[in-house]
Amino acid sequence: MEYYLDHAATTKPCPAAIEALQRCLTTHYGNPSSLHRLGVEAQREVEQARSWIAAALGCTPQEITFTSGATESNHLAITGAVQTYGKRKKKLVVSAVEHASVRNTMQHLQNSGYQVVTVTPDKNGCYHAADFLAEVDENTCLLSMMLVNNETGYCLPVQSVFRAAKRRFPELITHCDAVQGFLKIPFQVHTLQADLLSVSGHKIHGVKGIGALYQKNGVHLHPTFYGGSQERGLRPGTESVPLIAAFGAAVQTYGGTIRERYQLVAEKKAYLLEQLQTIPNCKVHSTADASPYIISFSMQPYRSEILLHFLEKRGIFVSSGSACSKGKKSGVPVLFGATELEADSILRVSLSAETPNKALDVLVSELQAAREVLLY
Ligand code: PMP
Repeated sequence: MEYYLDHAATTKPCPAAIEALQRCLTTHYGNPSSLHRLGVEAQREVEQARSWIAAALGCTPQEITFTSGATESNHLAITGAVQTYGKRKKKLVVSAVEHASVRNTMQHLQNSGYQVVTVTPDKNGCYHAADFLAEVDENTCLLSMMLVNNETGYCLPVQSVFRAAKRRFPELITHCDAVQGFLKIPFQVHTLQADLLSVSGHKIHGVKGIGALYQKNGVHLHPTFYGGSQERGLRPGTESVPLIAAFGAAVQTYGGTIRERYQLVAEKKAYLLEQLQTIPNCKVHSTADASPYIISFSMQPYRSEILLHFLEKRGIFVSSGSACSKGKKSGVPVLFGATELEADSILRVSLSAETPNKALDVLVSELQAAREVLLY
């Protein structure tokens, strides 16, 4: 048996996504820019997906640009906005717990002369709106905050910060990496007051290599490379129709059940937390109000990788942290209040509404077994 508990890293494509992929590889394989029937069919696939994604985000289809994934969406949002709005305003404000695609883009901009202010959580691992608002001023070009942290599930106060910041500085550009919240936590771009927002296909049962960027009507971005007029010239290159159609199909499949799935997953999280309490030295790092989809815990003195491979041999797939860090130590758990020693033994379990409770039972019993078998 295999138990996949790593949905924050990626998800299995849903049947509707695979069907859309297949259709666009075999029948609707035209180039959307072609004027003939095959081109028109392909264009229809792209526009259908765009309107489903727009509906899920609460925006118009014209406000959606397809990219190769959220890494590119984040990069395009931040560098595109800075090139347009950052000529005089050189300050960028960002949370300290962002995904590497935001963090390293900010690092690059800092090296190029921008002032990047990083806001860290308090000693209990909590963020307060006031900490961000204290940093935003009339010289701030962009404020970037993720919706749900990919390592702990912590939900940042994006809505309250963006709203208050926009009230004081209406020209401020707000960007949100919503990858781990999309179709999991109910939100709409206008309630968040996000000008730019990034999502990814493979985290929501679509396919890898496709993402989207919401760009509020009236907000202008410089393209990061140049070519044809696809995606209004902002993201040139022949559209990946199969991946786009699969993304749209996944959004259409899951878009109507966010609250029901949230409830189901919250029950699974509660069940797992109860079971984890029975394991000595097991400490849960995700807070009670975090996204139920992500649970971070440590089991000292065992190192994350040792536990991860122990579980893998027994058919259980979890993560030692962010999948993107590929075993490299992440500083994020410590920022959220874990000690260095705890951070060394952190595991991340990430759920879907379809995760069977049996998987959680097996996980807990194998963690119990690990304590008897493994050397430190
Ligand atoms: N942001 C967050 C919060 C993520 O979890 C990820 C994926 N690990 C990304 C961005 C990057 O997404 P993609 O894999 O589509 O480039």
